[in-house]
Amino acid sequence: MVGNKELAELIFPEVKETIEDLEKRYPDRNLKSGAEVTRFAPSPTGFLHTGSLFTSMVCHKVAKQSGGIFYVRLEDTDTKREIQGSGEQLLDQLKLFGIVPDEGYLGNSQKGDYGPYIQSQRANIYKVVIKHLLEEGKAYPDFATPEELEEIRAKQEANKLTPGYYGEFAKYRFLTNEERKERILNGQPYVIRFKSNGNHLNKIPVSDLIRGDFEIAENDLDIVILKSDGLPTYHFAHACDDHFMRTTTVIRGEEWIASLPIHVQLFKELGWTAPKYAHLPVIMKIGENGNKRKLSKRLDAEAAVSFFLEDGYPSDALIMYLMTIANSNFEEWIFEHKFEHMEDFVFSFDKMSLEGALFDMGKLCFFSREILGKKTKEEMLQMTLEYSKKYNQKLFDLVNRDHEYFKEIINIEREKENPRKDYEKLGGIYDIISFFYKDLYDAYIKENPLVFNEKFTLETVKEVVSAMKKLDLSLDEQGWFNNMKAIGDSLGFSSDRKAYKANPGAFKGMTGDVAEMLRITLTTRKNSPNLYYVMRILGKEECNRRIDLVLAK
Ligand code: GLU
Repeated sequence: MVGNKELAELIFPEVKETIEDLEKRYPDRNLKSGAEVTRFAPSPTGFLHTGSLFTSMVCHKVAKQSGGIFYVRLEDTDTKREIQGSGEQLLDQLKLFGIVPDEGYLGNSQKGDYGPYIQSQRANIYKVVIKHLLEEGKAYPDFATPEELEEIRAKQEANKLTPGYYGEFAKYRFLTNEERKERILNGQPYVIRFKSNGNHLNKIPVSDLIRGDFEIAENDLDIVILKSDGLPTYHFAHACDDHFMRTTTVIRGEEWIASLPIHVQLFKELGWTAPKYAHLPVIMKIGENGNKRKLSKRLDAEAAVSFFLEDGYPSDALIMYLMTIANSNFEEWIFEHKFEHMEDFVFSFDKMSLEGALFDMGKLCFFSREILGKKTKEEMLQMTLEYSKKYNQKLFDLVNRDHEYFKEIINIEREKENPRKDYEKLGGIYDIISFFYKDLYDAYIKENPLVFNEKFTLETVKEVVSAMKKLDLSLDEQGWFNNMKAIGDSLGFSSDRKAYKANPGAFKGMTGDVAEMLRITLTTRKNSPNLYYVMRILGKEECNRRIDLVLAK
C-alpha cells in the first residue's frame, strides 16, 4: 500500500525541510503589543491603480501609527500577466507618495529577515508546506485534463449546479495513492489541489475589521494550490506568506471577501492562526448616467496614479484626499490642522464607510490648491522644475529662462497668512503664467483675438485702457485701486455699487468692468493672478506697450 508520506516523497523528493524548520527560520516578530504588521502585495501586472494607492496608504498608516512594520511583497506567480518592470515602477511611485516600506520588496532590492519577498523566489517554501499537506492527506495530485474540466463545467451548467471542482465532481480526489503513483510514474501532468472538507451548506463565522462579524458559506472547492508550472496560486501563497512573514492584519480590496472561506479554511487546516482581515471598499465614481460605478482602468484617467503625477497634482494632496475617503473624520481634522502633519492623524477602521468610497475630482482639486498655496516660492520653483523636467518640457524651458522671474510671478499673494490659491496643479502653471513672457504674449495675440465683454464696443474698451496708462504703479495696492476707481468714475464707470444699482442707466458700467478690460488687455485672460502685482511685475513700459497694441486694433 502506498501511504501519504510515500506519495509526498514521490512528488517532492528534493524537499528536505519541514514546516518546523520554517517556523524556526521565521520566528515571531519581537514587537510591542498592539504593533501591527501589514503588507501591500501588488502583482506586477501594470500601472499603480488609484485603488492600490489607497490600499497601500491604509496599510502603511496602520503599521506606522501602531509602531509596527509595513512591508511590500511582490505577488508574481501569474507569469502570463506579468509586465516587465512594473514592480519597480510601482515601488517608485509609492515612494513619491511617502509610502516607503520598512522591509520587503523595494524595487531593485529586498530588505528584511522574512524574505524572499518575491513570491516566485519562494517556491521552496510553498513546496515544504504542500508536502506537509500531502503527508496529512489534505492535498492530492489532480490529473484532470482541460477537456475533463470542460466536461465537468458543461455538466454543472446543464444541471444548474454551482461550477467548480468540488465533491463528486472532484473526481481525482477519489483515486487511491497506488493509482496516483502509477500516473505520476507514467509521466502524466498534474496540479496539486487542496482537499476541502467543507460543505457549502454550512455557514461559518468570519470577522472583518470594517464589517464586523458575519457568516459566510463554507468552502467546498478543492482549489489548485500548486500549478503545473511549479508556482502556487494566490490563495495558497498568501496564506503561507502572511503566516511566515508574521502579518497581523491583511488589508486588501473587498473583491477578496468572496474568497475568505477558502482562506479561513486553509489557515485552519494548516493549524495556523489566521491574520485579522480588513477589506477596503472599492473606489467608485459617478458615471455618465449619474449612477455610481467602480473607477475603471479602461474608462477613467483618474484610475491610474500616473494621471495625477503627469498633471502635477502634489502627492500630499492626493494622499490627504484619499484619507478623506478612508476615514470620515479626517476632513475636519485636516482643516483644523491647516493641511499639515497628517502623520499625527489616527486612522481607525471604525470610521471607514462601507458605502463604496466616491472619488470626487473637485475635492481633490480643492485640496491641491490649498497645498500648493502653502508652499513658498522656492518650494514652488523646485517642485515645478522637478515635475516639468519629467513631464512637461514646455514648462521646464519656460521656468528655466529665469528662475528669479518665475519666483516673482509665482509669489504673487503667496507667503502670507491667507495666500491666494491660483494653482491647482503644476501642469496648469504654464497656461496661467505664459502671458508674463513678452514673446509668448505677442505670439498669443497675433493668433487670437482678445475677447472683451460684448456689452462694450471696441471704442469704449480703447477709451478705458488708454486712460489706464495713467495708473500709478508706485502706489500700494489700495492706492492703486482707488486710482483705478477714480479714472473709471471719470469715464462713467461707477465705483459706487449702491449708486449703480439705484440707476444703472446713468452709468456705462462699474469699476469691475474697467478692471476686466485692463486685465484682458494685459494678460489675455479673464482670470489671472492679482492684477496689481501683475502690472508691477510687467512694469509700466510693458503694460503701456500692451495697451498700445489694443489701441492699434
Ligand atoms: N496580489 C493581490 C492583488 O494584487 C493581493 C491581494 C492581497 O493584498 O492579499 O490583488
